[in-house]
Amino acid sequence: MKGVKIGLEIHEQLDTKSKLFCACPTDYREAEPNKSICPVCTGQPGSKPFGVNEKAVNAVIKIAMALNCKIVTNRPVQIRRKHYIYPDLPSGYQRTSEPIGTEGELNNVQIHEVHLEEDPGRFFLREGFVDLNRSGTPLIEITTEPVFDSPQHAREWLEKLASVLAYLDVTKKEEGTMRIDANISLNNGSKVEIKNINSFRNVEKALAFEITRQEDLLRRGLIVDRETRHFDEKMILTSPSRKKETEEDYRHMPDPDIPPLLIKKELAEKTKETLPELPQSKAKRFVKQYQLSGQNAENMVSDPYTADVFENVAKTVDPVIASNWFVGQLKKTLNYNSMTLRDSKITEKQLASLLKLVERQKITERAAELTLREMVLRPEEPAKIIENLGLLEFGDLNTIVKEILDKNEKAVNDYKTGRKEAFEYLVGQVMKITKGSADPETIRKALKRGAELK
Ligand SMILES: [Zn+2]
Repeated sequence: MKGVKIGLEIHEQLDTKSKLFCACPTDYREAEPNKSICPVCTGQPGSKPFGVNEKAVNAVIKIAMALNCKIVTNRPVQIRRKHYIYPDLPSGYQRTSEPIGTEGELNNVQIHEVHLEEDPGRFFLREGFVDLNRSGTPLIEITTEPVFDSPQHAREWLEKLASVLAYLDVTKKEEGTMRIDANISLNNGSKVEIKNINSFRNVEKALAFEITRQEDLLRRGLIVDRETRHFDEKMILTSPSRKKETEEDYRHMPDPDIPPLLIKKELAEKTKETLPELPQSKAKRFVKQYQLSGQNAENMVSDPYTADVFENVAKTVDPVIASNWFVGQLKKTLNYNSMTLRDSKITEKQLASLLKLVERQKITERAAELTLREMVLRPEEPAKIIENLGLLEFGDLNTIVKEILDKNEKAVNDYKTGRKEAFEYLVGQVMKITKGSADPETIRKALKRGAELK
């Protein structure tokens, strides 16, 4: 989109056992409200925070490395206090590090900076209730340069980022832990920031709404205010946030209680060596090693578990046939049941057995599809499911086709002289026997081929 400039700021929880500056556990979801807390993470006067949680620092370095950032190793990284007043923050300041990584890049999007930050608590506005269990949980903050030119571009890139994070395995697995701020300007006008969006779809929707709103103002000769807005997902619109939340003077200052981080160059280098194969390079390898289409490869590498299962299945099944099933029927069936492959508990062995049957044309594509639907719900050996569903009774489609053709010589001759209804009659006969387990297109092909041979 012309003139549109979008930048993103992403917050994701790091997967550590304890909080950033104290020993409280981070699995606060399990705990009753305000139980997973101590004087440090509730910001009580005189409380003494620990040094920074090392696991959290290492996680940030790992992510920054995977995003091709330069790691700040030549000077101490201060932990700073960012002041604001809100009920979720009893200390009155949030601790956030100076950049740990800078000048990164992922999928042609420049990363501005990567920071370590503590999460505030949660304030339930309607109930007037504060829960501080989340307070002090470590977060990574990733900011991009304003390089996205459309809401869709932003959403697609966020999916790539989520995929990289899934490979690194240092962030929380629960859904909805990622929170995104998006800033947007039109034709180099005022920058509007939309805060705290909780899903990629909503980022796209909020930005699309903002473009329409700002374009409308500009068309009428009005000014777009520089402001912070909030996205209402039910109404699908953004509205200005209250003044308190938009306060921009955070009065940043180094936290006198926390020693600055000193990141050794050797640690950064060592971390780089331990990075797993990331989705981009894996997709390239899949194309080369298995002769897959770029689209199939990209589709399969987005989730590391699926990519691993594919590679194991491809040891015994033709990789192209397997990948078509992975991104086609398998994906469709899983989506329909709102599941991931991991959730389904289908084993590699079961998938491989099913695809081997398809590869050797022992069952029709349609029968395999029906089997897969059952497997997703009740993982079992496909042979057993095929037997239970009675899908093998009519065996090889070609045998049935041959029988029907032999039995109906008149219809075959009529078809050959150009009578379409004769062909439809034959299709109907085969469908009667296969009871819908073979798809009509396959039957037609088999019949045409069979009739030609006669
Ligand atoms: Zn604590």
